Amino acid sequence: MRLIPQPLSSELLGGFSSVKDITERITVDGMNEEEYELTVSAENITVKASSDKGFYYATVTLKQMKLLYDRLPCVRINDRPRYPYRGFMIDCARHMFSLDELKKMISTAADLKFNKLHWHLSDDQGFRIELDNFPELTEKGSVRDCDNFRNLKNPSPYSGYYKKSEIREIIDFCAKKYIDVIPEFDMPGHQSAFLHTYPQFSCKGTAVEIKTKEGIFKDIVCAGNEEAKSTLKAILDEICELFYYDTVHIGGDEAPKNNWKSCEKCQRAMRENGINNEQDLQCHFINEMAEYLANKGKKCIVWNDCLKGDGLSRDITVQYWMGNKCKTAKAVNSGAEVIMSSFMPMYVDYPYGMHPLKAVYSYEPEDFSGLTQEGKKNILGVESPIWTEYIDTDERLEYMCFPRWFAVAETAWSKKENKDYKKFCFVLDNLAEKYRREGLTVADKAEWDPEPMQRLKRTLGFFI
Ligand SMILES: [Zn+2]
Repeated sequence: MRLIPQPLSSELLGGFSSVKDITERITVDGMNEEEYELTVSAENITVKASSDKGFYYATVTLKQMKLLYDRLPCVRINDRPRYPYRGFMIDCARHMFSLDELKKMISTAADLKFNKLHWHLSDDQGFRIELDNFPELTEKGSVRDCDNFRNLKNPSPYSGYYKKSEIREIIDFCAKKYIDVIPEFDMPGHQSAFLHTYPQFSCKGTAVEIKTKEGIFKDIVCAGNEEAKSTLKAILDEICELFYYDTVHIGGDEAPKNNWKSCEKCQRAMRENGINNEQDLQCHFINEMAEYLANKGKKCIVWNDCLKGDGLSRDITVQYWMGNKCKTAKAVNSGAEVIMSSFMPMYVDYPYGMHPLKAVYSYEPEDFSGLTQEGKKNILGVESPIWTEYIDTDERLEYMCFPRWFAVAETAWSKKENKDYKKFCFVLDNLAEKYRREGLTVADKAEWDPEPMQRLKRTLGFFI
């Protein structure tokens, strides 16, 4: 039986069932906590699992079977995921989305057995988490003068943030679907909102504007300023209390070192700690934050840019997106855990012409040059981000993610040998129609894999 994501194994038993819901749940010790066995027979639907998660995934499978079939075929499905980390990221720093829209996205992701929401809530264009101890961070740090993104212009100021009660509502909503929420507080770069609020924490100490366009900016937090670091830690305290899961993302990407090179404080921090260059200083800075989080019982994820320098703690999980493959492979081979999110093709904010559905589906996390067999065991899973510099409507958000997140889900959950693009598309065609009827914007089939000329045209259209 073909489903999305494709189960580990299934056996059609012949005939159809007269019942539609689970009639018996049997707790079986020794199964993986996300594993289940679902047996649909003429008069019973039985689930075996060892934990609530296992029972939950059986109900998710059953829900999809009901979408696909008017009468449930009798079948036995044995299923468990390939990876423990099956992530999707939503950028609410560039543009915010309503709680209803977030719930719609989360529900669809849950139907595809994703289990990690990486919620990007701070960036150069705005800080979006209400904090009791730092009210000025949302008063000042959530407001930008206008939208001046390449193809999204708006002369009016853009502002907003999520109240703690709203964040809790999303966390509770996710918890019911066994989705962990991982907040991202990006540092030392992508910190214009923080530095706009506290300009004394930049190397130069002068005013920093909240950015109104996309890009990589030189305004980063001073790594030699103890008060800046203790403020970041105090903000992390409040973030950790609000997001009660065991993991926090602290970014670490795209942090130009121009200011650190000419900053007395940063240079002194390097001398005092025997650090040779600014990239290593970033490792030192990130290690300090990770150690602080570890003492609070939290694990830490950073983007692979942090591996440009030497000395990043192997206890930190690396999220791979682009560049320095050699150093990433070396870190992963020597024990660092990794989440695979290669820009090409996992960044679904890029057009279908550039990252077609088939390319997303064909992404194989283990095909990473330099990884040893031992290193491959450190792949925790995959994640697909949707960045929103160019997305400010619900329809656009959904159109870019769906159906590409159906493909990501199958890579995250299903055994490599069980993947089959033609069969996937056959089920997807049917399933996409059901979701459209429920109000989800899913790209038309004609958009999924454009012809070469169309691909070129759409890619160019996106950049010009
Ligand atoms: Zn500095």
